[in-house]
Amino acid sequence: MFLAHFAVAMAAKKLTPKTNLGLLFIGGQFLDLLWPFLLLLGVERMAVDPGNTVLTPLDFYDYPISHGLLSVTLMSLVVGVITFVLRRDRREATVLAALVVSHWVLDLLVHRPDLPIVGNDSAKLGLGLWNEPVIAILLEALFFATGLYVYYSGSKAKDRTGTYVPAINFVMLALIYIANIMGPPPPNEMAVAISALGLWLFVGLAAWGDNHRLWGLGKL
Ligand SMILES: [Zn+2]
Repeated sequence: MFLAHFAVAMAAKKLTPKTNLGLLFIGGQFLDLLWPFLLLLGVERMAVDPGNTVLTPLDFYDYPISHGLLSVTLMSLVVGVITFVLRRDRREATVLAALVVSHWVLDLLVHRPDLPIVGNDSAKLGLGLWNEPVIAILLEALFFATGLYVYYSGSKAKDRTGTYVPAINFVMLALIYIANIMGPPPPNEMAVAISALGLWLFVGLAAWGDNHRLWGLGKL
């Protein structure tokens, strides 16, 4: 999924309002933020394969570290422990660890069976909703709308940055999702890796914008 990962992170802000949204984005998108580095290092591989599923022209045939269940579970524990050691906030650590795992669970819904349990020779899982475009798109939209609602109903802008930066960030995410599903397939694997690196931009924008919003108000 794409928007849903960000949406879950936005909604998680309600559970741990002190945590900056940029950090929550890192939790929710941890696997996809790590993935381009593994691609560029040649540790994991993928192929541009138009028609692989109806919605995604990518064949994720080798990514046991970024998207293997065992590896993701271990990374989630590591993220939780490191967060706790650095910040001494059990709730924040638990939420971030849960966000890491949430990515795999959401991916499970849409991927064809290409999510390995351990390595590439192990069983691979995926419920394949990317081949049911209407359901997959509605699901992404529903998640995104819910995430936006929770984020905006629990916070208010301190200044113009707090108004415009999150708005630009969320609109850009929605536009990228639409471009991904409607546009032509990427020209090659390198282009996919480079554009996946661009996900870090949204982490930066989220961190910046969230610093300019007040939490713990109104419906929180
Ligand atoms: Zn993913």
